[in-house]
Amino acid sequence: MLKSIKNFSIVFLVFIGFVFADKIDKQIAGSKARICDAFHLPESSLNDTRIEFARDNNELARLSYGYIPDWGAGVALPDRNTIIIIKTGDTERDRIVLNHELTHIALHKKLQGIPIPRWFDEGVAQYLSTGFTVSNQAQLAWAVLWRNILSLQSLEYVNSFNISNAELAYAESFDAVLYLAESNDIGTICDSIASTEDFGDGFRNATNLSIYDFYRRWVKHLSRRYLPFVLLGDQRFLWTFASVIFLLFGIIKFIHQRKHFAKLRKQADDENWGEPQNYS
Ligand SMILES: [Zn+2]
Repeated sequence: MLKSIKNFSIVFLVFIGFVFADKIDKQIAGSKARICDAFHLPESSLNDTRIEFARDNNELARLSYGYIPDWGAGVALPDRNTIIIIKTGDTERDRIVLNHELTHIALHKKLQGIPIPRWFDEGVAQYLSTGFTVSNQAQLAWAVLWRNILSLQSLEYVNSFNISNAELAYAESFDAVLYLAESNDIGTICDSIASTEDFGDGFRNATNLSIYDFYRRWVKHLSRRYLPFVLLGDQRFLWTFASVIFLLFGIIKFIHQRKHFAKLRKQADDENWGEPQNYS
């Protein structure tokens, strides 16, 4: 039992805090309905989901009976129909984490235990809980530029990643689902997975792509989308580019001056220039 709970433990990024704002309570009903609608589930499907709060990461690990990385901010336990989140006192962050974990529960209710890749699980949870930020784009752009993109398959081990790789992994899974959603309805893909009872078959039936074809297309899309972002949109690149141009300009000017003085010296030798006159 404990082992299965641990296997289904799903953690999410954000950090530790204290007070949970009442404002969130009023938003929960609307969020639940929106998430259920996205998966074509009855509107009341999340009404019996238990929501618990932890003071810190240690309490989160204790309440979920599992390993929680130090960057974890919440956990969804589909077997217990429960989510647990760390109170941060930041209403917007708490709302995002809450919606993220509720999305995991709704997705697992929809698919009723059918195994799915972690990137799809996390990407869909991100897709339905928050917006794709400039920071997300910058992370992906630099990973593309320095060839540090993690494979979607490696996201199975995200709980063992350090925080920077975990942030990149979440941004990648989010982007993969955004790319998928450009030409597919996520709820329809989930309908197909549920009816075939297999992720690969359901994914292919809904998208006309094997999961491996999708991986290949997504990697190509990353280069197309994010390399121009690096070149045009990131100040760090612009400063690096400006420094290189400044250096090149300095080298060219130095070479030009050396040639000019060499020419003057040659002219002085050819014409037997004497020492300058003293006009004082
Ligand atoms: Zn998650």
